[in-house]
Amino acid sequence: HVAKAKQSGAVLFDPAFDISSQGNLSLASELRQAIATNELALYVQPKIDLQNGKISAVEALIRWRHPQKGLMFPDQFIPFAEQSGLISLISLWVLAEAARVEVAWRKLGIDAPIAVNLSTRDLIDQDLPHKILTLHQDAGLALGGITLEITESSMMDDPQRAQQTLERLSDMGLQLSIDDFGTGYSSLAYLKRLPVSELKIDKSFVLKMEEDENDRKIVRSTIDLGHNLNLKVVAEGIESRAAWDLLASMGCDFGQGYHISKPMPAADFPAWLQRWQAQELQTA
Ligand code: C2E
Ligand code: MG
Ligand code: MG
Ligand code: MG
Repeated sequence: HVAKAKQSGAVLFDPAFDISSQGNLSLASELRQAIATNELALYVQPKIDLQNGKISAVEALIRWRHPQKGLMFPDQFIPFAEQSGLISLISLWVLAEAARVEVAWRKLGIDAPIAVNLSTRDLIDQDLPHKILTLHQDAGLALGGITLEITESSMMDDPQRAQQTLERLSDMGLQLSIDDFGTGYSSLAYLKRLPVSELKIDKSFVLKMEEDENDRKIVRSTIDLGHNLNLKVVAEGIESRAAWDLLASMGCDFGQGYHISKPMPAADFPAWLQRWQAQELQTA
């Protein structure tokens, strides 16, 4: 009753679920095992400059290569990880893996900063800034290149503590991005309070903006709002060239979406980037 299997195969978690129940205990131990045995995989999705098509960064999106269930998406285990406390282990794995990938890309001459998604629990851990600092010093990377994407709903638990952690991260030189903007409760309050430098318009507005005039107006106003607050604005969910052009005409800075690329294993990115750059030269 706790984890309801949807027809699509995705798993939904009841927020009031019992962490000690049998099914959850085994998911918790499977997830621990997955971290230890490297079943987790870092996928990346390119983020482009909408005015010239150049790659400005990539976003790290986690996958779980489950030995029985196949490729699992974050919606199928991140909510559980958040509620069971395993998220802090996962986030550290993602941050370390992102640093490792970054170093490997540098050796290939690729300069694409990797943005990482963070959760509530991470912000409650007041040692997180120090952990990130150590990780990056060990890898020989500068902190200035890192962007952390924060989801609004992940800030609900203990907003004051989250804010303190975010301020320390920002003081260290990390860039903070508000993810899924417009879908939470206090988007505007967060923009006012938090030291963010980027705002990501949720894909639910972008996906239908060509047909839906209201969505288009929301997208346009959000871009203007971001710019008025001196933020860079990123649109998610670009599924067509028309959407890219429309966003570019509205002055949106950056974009991501299936039209540019679906998330891919990090190891595939260097070859993808070469193809992208070759294509760009042709159309320039
Ligand atoms: P998000 O950070 O807002 O990431 C965007 C999601 O939209 C990704 O789903 C991406 O694959 C999908 N997407 C990208 N372009 C398009 C498009 O053009 N059309 C459509 N329909 N979808 C698109 P994904 O990878 O399943 O991740 C879902 C969410 O899981 C993420 O949303 C993020 O909140 C969370 N997540 C992913 N990786 C991590 C992680 O390492 N740590 C934490 N804490 N959360 C993560
Ligand atoms: Mg994100
Ligand atoms: Mg998002
Ligand atoms: Mg999301």
